[in-house]
Amino acid sequence: MINLELPKKLVNIQKMTHQMASSMFRPISRKYDTAEHAVPTELDAFGKMMGQGGMGGLGGGGSSSKDKKDEGVKNGGNMMGIVAAIEMMWGDAGLSMAIPGQGLGNAAISAVATPEQMEIFGKKWAAMAITEPGTGSDSANIQTTARLDGDEWVINGEKIFISDGGRCEVIVVWATLDKAKGKAAIKSFVVPKDVPGVNLVRLEKKMGLRVSDTAAITFDNVRIPKDHILGSAEIDTKKGFGGVMQTFDNTRPAVGAMAVGVGRAALDMTRELYAKEEVVPAYDRTTFNASALEAELYRMEADLEAARLLCLKAAWMADNGQPNSKEASMAKAKAGRVGNYITLRCVELCHAIGYSHDVLLEKFARDSKILDIFEGTQQIQQLIVARHMLGLSSKELK
Ligand SMILES: Cc1cc2nc3c(=O)[nH]c(=O)nc-3n(C[C@H](O)[C@H](O)[C@H](O)COP(=O)(O)OP(=O)(O)OC[C@H]3O[C@@H](n4cnc5c(N)ncnc54)[C@H](O)[C@@H]3O)c2cc1C
Repeated sequence: MINLELPKKLVNIQKMTHQMASSMFRPISRKYDTAEHAVPTELDAFGKMMGQGGMGGLGGGGSSSKDKKDEGVKNGGNMMGIVAAIEMMWGDAGLSMAIPGQGLGNAAISAVATPEQMEIFGKKWAAMAITEPGTGSDSANIQTTARLDGDEWVINGEKIFISDGGRCEVIVVWATLDKAKGKAAIKSFVVPKDVPGVNLVRLEKKMGLRVSDTAAITFDNVRIPKDHILGSAEIDTKKGFGGVMQTFDNTRPAVGAMAVGVGRAALDMTRELYAKEEVVPAYDRTTFNASALEAELYRMEADLEAARLLCLKAAWMADNGQPNSKEASMAKAKAGRVGNYITLRCVELCHAIGYSHDVLLEKFARDSKILDIFEGTQQIQQLIVARHMLGLSSKELK
């Protein structure tokens, strides 16, 4: 039997995270949007709480899909990550990404690390470095190299737009073992930030998520131990991307959840502003009997709920050991698009005040845009869904 309600355990997480986001994020939201790159020290305690409470981070709460077979239905770490991400992002998207210990690299580590690697890296703040000056959507084109020299990997290359790259402790770096062997040779490595050759080049100034640092970093003959590779070092050209792509099955639903959270924030604020003018939508009226404004709010509510359910489904599948690449992309595509639409539409619906700095609506719209871009753009998610639906490979449908 299908049950679309959240289990009680997750309802408690939802309430607790919402409460924290409301009391800790919202009061400092504008402050850190204005003071770009200032470090939000208020969040240090929040990071500790999240780690200790096992509440799951933004990229899933440490649950890998691979060990979950034959254990009955699970509502595990990925589901928890979705629920927490929606509420935290409702509070503030940038601050949510600046919580110590909650980087996208943490999700990558959770997805593919061995128990021994989890022991070493599981509690470290991990950023994720895929993008390069000449490589974005086409991650098969990665130029950063990893070469085995005795008991060490030697990493060389340049990575850009690394969220949390300035403040993290380790970076999950995607690099190729052999450019001639294509994407099967691309592997991920955990690189501590403090080893020689890791150079922080700059922090980007951005449209949104201004409190979350986004770094450009070069890797110049960086030497790391042999066991810092995530997954196997074997190059299996039949499997293509294999291991590294598994990360996205966990992180894409989570980024979708982030978009849902920011969209929810915009919609809630719009309803509050209209309530002050005594415009309160009566949800028992159909769109045919409602005002144009009410009908628009109903449609946005429905879209947001559809996106939320897609994210939960993709995360539930990951928690239960089911292949979810198609569902992960569906969730991110829907949520990213809906989040962008709702946040901008709410700016419009609230006219001058929506565009002003008096309320956070304009900030929600700026923060929302990137959630339809990173971890694979809207167009790339649609391409992946199309490949699954049509049964075509990445070579056959580009
Ligand atoms: C604030 C911020 C934080 C980020 N954080 C991280 C991070 O932590 N780690 C990291 O590795 N990267 C990060 N990124 C980078 C992000 O993941 C990339 O920007 C994204 O993957 C797109 O790559 P690109 O910018 O090179 O655009 P391109 O790949 O050049 O794409 C440009 C446009 O072309 C479209 N396009 C490309 N290929 C196709 C196709 N085959 N079919 C149809 N349309 C296509 C894209 O959808 C897009 O609209 C971040 C970026 C920003 C702005």
